Amino acid sequence: MAGNPQHMPRLLPLRLPRVCVAIMATTAAEMFEKAEAVVKDNSLIELRLDYIRQPGTALPRLRRFLEYHPEALVIATCRRVAHGGKFRGSLAAQVAVLVKAAANGSQFVDLEMGSAAALKSKDLDRLRAAAAVILSFHDFRATRKLDETFQSMTAFPADYYKMVSTANSLYDNVVMMKFLERHSDKHSLIGLCMGEQGTISRVLCVRAGSIFTFASAGPGEETAPGQIAARALHDSYRIDQIDAATKAYGVAGDPVAHSLSPLMMNTAFRRENINAVYLPLHASKLSDLLACVRDIPLHGLSITLPYKQEIIQYLDNTDPLTEKIGACNTVIRAQDGKLYGYNTDVAGVVRPLEQRLHLAGAKVLVVGAGGAARAAVFGLKERGAEVFIMNRTTSAGQKLARQARAKFLTRTQMRGLQFDVIINATPVGMNGTLSPLSEKELNARILFEMVYTPAETKLVKIARAKDLQVITGAEMFVQQGARQFEIWTGKPAPADDMQRVVIAALQARAANGSHKNQGASELVAS
Ligand code: NAP
Repeated sequence: MAGNPQHMPRLLPLRLPRVCVAIMATTAAEMFEKAEAVVKDNSLIELRLDYIRQPGTALPRLRRFLEYHPEALVIATCRRVAHGGKFRGSLAAQVAVLVKAAANGSQFVDLEMGSAAALKSKDLDRLRAAAAVILSFHDFRATRKLDETFQSMTAFPADYYKMVSTANSLYDNVVMMKFLERHSDKHSLIGLCMGEQGTISRVLCVRAGSIFTFASAGPGEETAPGQIAARALHDSYRIDQIDAATKAYGVAGDPVAHSLSPLMMNTAFRRENINAVYLPLHASKLSDLLACVRDIPLHGLSITLPYKQEIIQYLDNTDPLTEKIGACNTVIRAQDGKLYGYNTDVAGVVRPLEQRLHLAGAKVLVVGAGGAARAAVFGLKERGAEVFIMNRTTSAGQKLARQARAKFLTRTQMRGLQFDVIINATPVGMNGTLSPLSEKELNARILFEMVYTPAETKLVKIARAKDLQVITGAEMFVQQGARQFEIWTGKPAPADDMQRVVIAALQARAANGSHKNQGASELVAS
């Protein structure tokens, strides 16, 4: 039974789950259908009553829902349009909905600070008598003046204070978490940053002092920008295990939204029982990222476009091969705070090949002369392969050939030769219809395709039809990630599990055709 809210004891913060799933729906029936599905795995839910045209109509169902689910903890929210919500009614109508929600068993009500400020204190007292009040403040533009805002919030009595801002940089997450650390010993706080750049705080806020974090019921169900799906928070980010000893890692680049690295690396950490979490870090400036490395701190980074070259100047040391390649995709932060750089794209190329042939003396053609091609060329030379380079822009190809002591070939020269391996290190094929080489030009035993979306490029299809062995971009992606894992943890990587989740995610993307819309973001390879 939902119990009589008038006499309900105040819930202790320590008893609350770490994730609150925000539920939105335009009808009461749909809202409670969703709540039914969510509550089995997540007892704390927020009902966004303001999404329903007549929120009051949902409340009798709330009582029934709580009778069936006595374990459920419900936050009733009816945010007004002026405060970023959908409720068009008056302040009095908002309060009436919240009081009624409490009367029907909702243990918490959310009241925006703007509404609280306009209320008579006796009305606020009435609400507090009915349910625990979460006094919230949302800044939909920035992360600023948190302490000043909080000071004005605490002028109003509440059971919980919720501070939500918008991250315009990665460092805004640090600002939010420092705020939580300053105040969470004296007040019951919930705090996080919205927006794509707010992921760090959505995951790590719980160890900075936020009593819980918010999640969406699933992809496409977000009630705020940047909200992570509850399943991902539990299964991938393992939010329930995050503590002071959890080491944070991440993939840094611009863009990173479609990177498969968080899924792959969090799978690896979970499989090997490592107390670590791996986050997407959308950095619009390298200086922003570097400040976070120090202050969060981040223990390791996967570096992706456009920072693979630029990061090198900020590192304390790199291995000789990374220096030759001139690009770094992996950073580890040592205990003394120093940053060391590696290039694991080399392992991504060399390892799959070594499983199939002896590289010493093997004839390998690399098509392309960009960053990935450089990792392939220098890595293969180091293993004693005979390396050939072909590139659209002759001068760039010749320059790399000179630097690596490889041979540059024109397209006509290439056609007359036979290779053990041909590697496509260009993005041609990402649109699914083009191939950098024709069927006749695939004069090799093994094709190595670096592109991994789509999983089967035109070139891969041609190679399979010709009975060539094929190494896919997904295998490279997994192997470069496996090497990162080893550098960070000193343990062998669970490459099979990593490969399994990457292939499944690529198949899921192919099934819903999402790769067609992802454009440049698919270049996010690590
Ligand atoms: P990059 O530095 O931009 O280099 C691109 C190379 O491709 C250049 O040599 C460029 O030639 C050539 N190119 C671009 N468009 C072309 C076209 N239409 N026709 C012919 N050549 C073209 O890129 P990158 O970082 O080396 O990445 C290359 C590919 O490898 C990307 O698709 C990336 O996703 C993939 N990759 C995959 C992994 C993995 O783990 N699977 C890892 C790293 C990279 P010009 O010199 O003439 O411009």
